[in-house]
Amino acid sequence: MEPGGLKNVDTVEIPAVPVFSWSVGNFMEKFFDGLKDGKLMGIKCPKCGRVYLPPRMICERCFTENEEWVELPLEGTVESFTIAHVKVGDDGELEDLETPETIGMVKHKGADTCIVARIEGLDPADAGVGMRVTVVIDKSAENILDVLSHYVPC
Ligand SMILES: [Zn+2]
Repeated sequence: MEPGGLKNVDTVEIPAVPVFSWSVGNFMEKFFDGLKDGKLMGIKCPKCGRVYLPPRMICERCFTENEEWVELPLEGTVESFTIAHVKVGDDGELEDLETPETIGMVKHKGADTCIVARIEGLDPADAGVGMRVTVVIDKSAENILDVLSHYVPC
């Protein structure tokens, strides 16, 4: 014990419970705000006219900053899909799914890119390229990334 009741220490254990939160940023916030209003918003390159869904800040073709928000139809077309039989669990390990899930790349009329999401309400064996689907929006989702919940066949 040092004078004054103090002692030298090498290590101090401090219990810590980190709480993380992150922002999607001002740019993506417009996309998610649109979803909460029931709108699917893409963004258009002012130079080459390419429309991005999901939105991207910079055009991948001409490196121009995208700035013109455009409302796109809620219905889209399956351009490609896969059937998932496993998922990544909370511990990072692969877990078998009880029922396989259909994951599709969906292109909306007026967009030049596809958005990737689950397609529900169908037997995965019935999934196909060219299938028409509509987006399902969950305005009450706790996680903002889940507001665009999934797609269902039209
Ligand atoms: Zn461009």
